[in-house]
Amino acid sequence: MSKSLLIRNIRHLVTCDDQDRVLEHVNVLIRDGVIAAIGAVGEPADEVIDGSMLAVYPGLINTHHHLYQILTRNLPEVQNLELFDWLRALYQIWKNLTPESVYDSSLAGMAELVKYGCTTVFDHHYVFPNAHPDLLPTQFAAAKRLGVRMTVSRGSMDLSEKDGGLPPDSVVQSLETILRDSEEAVRTWHDPACYSMRQVVLAPCSPFSVSADLMRESALLARKLGVRLHTHLAETKDEETYLLKKLGIRPLAYMQELGWIGPDVWFAHGIHFNDEELKLLADTGTGVAHCPASNMKLSSGVARIPEMLKLGIPVGLAVDGSASNDGSSLMEEMRIAYLLHRLTSGDQAPAGYDILKIATRGSARLLGRSELGQISVGSAADLFAVREDRLELAGATSDVTSILATVGLKGPVDYTIVSGKILVKEGSLVGMNDRELSQKVHQHSLDLRKKL
Ligand code: ZN
Repeated sequence: MSKSLLIRNIRHLVTCDDQDRVLEHVNVLIRDGVIAAIGAVGEPADEVIDGSMLAVYPGLINTHHHLYQILTRNLPEVQNLELFDWLRALYQIWKNLTPESVYDSSLAGMAELVKYGCTTVFDHHYVFPNAHPDLLPTQFAAAKRLGVRMTVSRGSMDLSEKDGGLPPDSVVQSLETILRDSEEAVRTWHDPACYSMRQVVLAPCSPFSVSADLMRESALLARKLGVRLHTHLAETKDEETYLLKKLGIRPLAYMQELGWIGPDVWFAHGIHFNDEELKLLADTGTGVAHCPASNMKLSSGVARIPEMLKLGIPVGLAVDGSASNDGSSLMEEMRIAYLLHRLTSGDQAPAGYDILKIATRGSARLLGRSELGQISVGSAADLFAVREDRLELAGATSDVTSILATVGLKGPVDYTIVSGKILVKEGSLVGMNDRELSQKVHQHSLDLRKKL
């Protein structure tokens, strides 16, 4: 017998489907982790949720994160620094990561994301200390414990301080080791199937911590193995200056030379692109993960999202690493994105519903997952629900498609469901002790700082 879940009589179902339908007083039937029916469903289900006070949305998808950075949030020593100095200081702490600290920080970061409506997490992990080179199983174990859908990167760095890069020697690896491990990680962990819970991406860290050879070889390997490519790009003016001084080339032209362009590539941040570069991204279907909170905190700049959307560039939403956010809530990120572009682009800014579409359909496109990001028959049963009678939404529910970005939620969602399984019920994580986990992470954080 298959496992089924019925959400009955949903007040507003925001589907984010191709017709942008918003349905009222409908049922959603989930069977075996997939949306089986929408409408007047007569058949009984194993479990039933009363939807009469709920607005239901497709699950949010995070397209850039560094979960281990949960361990170094809000550090007084780095609060006033910009990217390059901020990284130099933090690498001295991150080089002492352990499998235990990566497991607990990954679990905590993903748990926070899930509490705020996220159902698929992408983590750009690229710090593999010499003592602990195999951290992917740890991250997938944390995702499995929580029940969230996860894509992890086999990130990498091979350009240390002695070679003109930013990271210390103890966290960089040789080209050969990286390529061998990357191939093994994909062959062991990547499940390419529709509705997959576990995927792998190749993601060298950035042009200033990775050699040209590693970028080029990673692209060749990813295409041979059929996985996607991701890195940081055009985040700061410092990065642009670094490449112009070192190689006389702008960041996107550099990546294009190395084979890093196309619909299987997405860049984190993408702030400092000129008009020609935006056109190249549009023509090639190369994507951008928009991380507004991090960009504001690190004084990096404002990505040209309104223009990107008009040009049809694939754009997804992301919280970025917890140390530059300093949180893991895509719900908060949606409101920040909405307000930031209202400030800088006025009536050209994305509307509230556009922001929701970026965080759902847009993000799904970056990860190459057409079965995610919408509520339609045959889609993965990843969704979240919010009670419309919450105090912070009083008087605001005339447009439920925009409300999450324009008004915003001030607390956890009421339900998060991944692959048909309830992970958040009435605002609380099911089967997880938040406080115990928080204390563990706090202890790891203290231990890391003691080693400084
Ligand atoms: Zn990042």
